[in-house]
Amino acid sequence: MLAGTRQQELRTPTPLTMKYPPVQNYINGALVNAQSGRILNVTSPVDGNLLSTLTLSTADDVDQAVKSAKAAFPVWSRFPVKERVQVFYHYKYLLEQNVKNLATLIQEENGKTFDEAAAEIEKSIELTEFACSLPQLVTGEVLEVSKGVECRTEHVPLGVVASIVPFNFPMMVPNWSIPNAIALGNCMILKPSEKVPLTAAKIAWLLKEAGLPDGVFNIVNGDSEVVDAICDHPGIEAISFVGSTRVAKLVYQRASHNYKRVLALGGAKNHLVVLPDAKPDMTAQNVTASMTGCAGQRCMAASAMVGVGNVDHIIERICEEAKKIVPGKNLGAVISREAKERIEKYITEAEQQGATILVDGRGAKVDGKENGSYVGPTVIDHVTPDMSVAREEIFGPVLSIMRTRTLDEALAIENASPFGNAASVFTQNGGYAKYVVEKASAGMIGVNIGVPVPREPFSFGGWNESKFGVGDITGKSSIEFWTKLKKSTTKWNPEAGINWMS
Ligand code: NAD
Repeated sequence: MLAGTRQQELRTPTPLTMKYPPVQNYINGALVNAQSGRILNVTSPVDGNLLSTLTLSTADDVDQAVKSAKAAFPVWSRFPVKERVQVFYHYKYLLEQNVKNLATLIQEENGKTFDEAAAEIEKSIELTEFACSLPQLVTGEVLEVSKGVECRTEHVPLGVVASIVPFNFPMMVPNWSIPNAIALGNCMILKPSEKVPLTAAKIAWLLKEAGLPDGVFNIVNGDSEVVDAICDHPGIEAISFVGSTRVAKLVYQRASHNYKRVLALGGAKNHLVVLPDAKPDMTAQNVTASMTGCAGQRCMAASAMVGVGNVDHIIERICEEAKKIVPGKNLGAVISREAKERIEKYITEAEQQGATILVDGRGAKVDGKENGSYVGPTVIDHVTPDMSVAREEIFGPVLSIMRTRTLDEALAIENASPFGNAASVFTQNGGYAKYVVEKASAGMIGVNIGVPVPREPFSFGGWNESKFGVGDITGKSSIEFWTKLKKSTTKWNPEAGINWMS
């Protein structure tokens, strides 16, 4: 299978000016041209170089992928789960073998640092390990509910499902859904972000090499036209979406209107509450790593800090730490020139509204990468809750610091946010920590940790406008999302007779 894979990958000629062949759809185990004729450039945020091109797909392309997935479903879903997960044991091995080349590709198309890209693959390996444990978790229940009458439940796959993903984790976010949904017996269509389609293509080839039958996994590249077609297609049973709140709402509404099961994860504005007793070094390092990791383009990034009382000594340490983070060295690029402009506009607006820029990342340049899109770490103090940097998702390496006199005032600011992905508290006082865990209005809470991502087997998911739908996207919660429960009742002996419930 490996030799065939490589041959097909090399089939499309590469124009001399770009590094990779044009991106194609992946349907029924083969590369297929998209039909719209509308072509986008895929450029590297690292240096602005052209990496590839991508032809946007149409509703007909989506229909082709659904047909391929539908045809594969009867055979794939009939394999016992213990056999289906064998593909993912192999896939995990292939991820481990390919960390270097996958991380290089992620770095090129997304702009994050090599280490951050490698961490994304480590996390994908962990997600795949969880999928391999599914046979231990999906066992049904059996009980003799009255004499001679047995009830039994089993988790049954849904059929054809889809996953729509954002640009910021080209490898990890698709792997939130792919291994679990497929190991549970579904066939899938992935709609990658048009900004980072190259890593998604690699995922397809790794799955093929791992032994996944053709048609079980398909990729349709494109923009909103493809997303709309996925939401409308009657052959698709369920959709997981990850992206901004604006689009999460559109997808949730449109797909639910068409009676599909939907889980749509949206944007975030994560608050870190810092108390004066917090350990200064540890707090500064955690806050800075959280705000600058992946250039602030994480839905779990620290974005707003609320200092309670006098925390000047901690803010000073945060500024020192921020100054150690250098674009092009230990800070990657943001996704595009438009993103850089948007982030810098937020900083300028805060300055004009009276906030103090303690560390200024505007105008960042990296020698030899003048066409790259970089924003340096930015720390803004004396932000007020009404400013846009306090309320909106900036999605860049920017920390907006607000000050309050009491912990309750800090929590009131956090609670007023329409988002609810994550919140953290930094303190040495267990009582205050517990109070914040109880009162913060977010799905994932941290104590003395800047990025409180629950690791497997704990599930990932926020609250409020950071998530629409029931349950979480990973962990055991995903079993409920990607399957339906069949309940069967059997009467084995005639003595059971007929009674009020039969
Ligand atoms: P985005 O919402 O712009 O795009 C996400 C997906 O939706 C992409 O595949 C895109 O092609 C598609 N899309 C874009 N506009 C659309 C439209 N009008 N109609 C239909 N589909 C459309 O998000 P992004 O910029 O790629 O990613 C960044 C966002 O994702 C941030 O808001 C971030 O917080 C969020 N995110 C959230 C989580 C989470 O777990 N909550 C995780 C990662 C990223």
